[in-house]
Amino acid sequence: MIGSGFVTGAQNTWCPGCGNFSIQHTLKNLFADLEKEGADPEKIVLVTGIGCHAKMADYMNVNSFYAIHGRAIPVATGIKLANRDLTVICCVGDGDAYAEGLDHLIFAAKRNIDITVLVHNNRVYGLTVGQYTPTSPLGFKGKSTPGGTLEYPINPLELVLASGATYVARGYTRKMDQLKTLIGRGVRHKGFSFIDILQICATFFPATDYYNKKTYDLPPYDTADFMRACSQAREWDYNNDAPVSLGVFYEKAAPTFDEKVDAIPRSEQDRDRFISTFLASRQ
Ligand code: SF4
Repeated sequence: MIGSGFVTGAQNTWCPGCGNFSIQHTLKNLFADLEKEGADPEKIVLVTGIGCHAKMADYMNVNSFYAIHGRAIPVATGIKLANRDLTVICCVGDGDAYAEGLDHLIFAAKRNIDITVLVHNNRVYGLTVGQYTPTSPLGFKGKSTPGGTLEYPINPLELVLASGATYVARGYTRKMDQLKTLIGRGVRHKGFSFIDILQICATFFPATDYYNKKTYDLPPYDTADFMRACSQAREWDYNNDAPVSLGVFYEKAAPTFDEKVDAIPRSEQDRDRFISTFLASRQ
């Protein structure tokens, strides 16, 4: 039952200093804002993948679904298609959404399904004690790469822009006011909203000093300008020593997948007519 505050009494096992606490606090405050605006907390659904981030499903007092590794986004898509009244927020990890679940991320962006995806991008597999992920920098020394990785990281912002996402932003767990604004705007956006969150892993990727030094707020520009968004996303490639911009990179209005599904005839009669018309067109 929702209504006794947005944080459950479940024992929290995140490490001290973990950036997941900031995301949890941000979501708690955002849910309270949404409730004040008239939203029904019973209609908020949180879907998580597998990883340290996924414990959010246990710690937040909203309806939630703990999916399997890499499969949180298709579950969230199905929930939204089954009930358009729900606000569906998907928490995933970088090892979760940018590795095993990468195809689902691309297709959700391509479809423009009306869900919000928060990537807890700590750039390491924290739950399994420190292997490299698709966003770990070149040379990262982890449990599976003691001599350093030989691979460059992917740039997730470029990837989702190329895939068709209609809201693309980047936040940082040490800038919580801004993070709430970015997530709130994503939740209110109609269509696929993607927020890459630079999340501190205090134990295996403690990048606080680096991000504190390198991050800055995006200057104002027309966020409907796709080419500008792409060029801004390329400034930092998750490996070079460039400044790291935070804010909304891109936002545009476009028909959503759920709206398109709604436009398909639903009654048996309409469906029969649709099938008859389709078959007749093939004769
Ligand atoms: Fe957080 Fe890293 Fe600890 Fe996981 S391993 S709980 S991401 S600090």
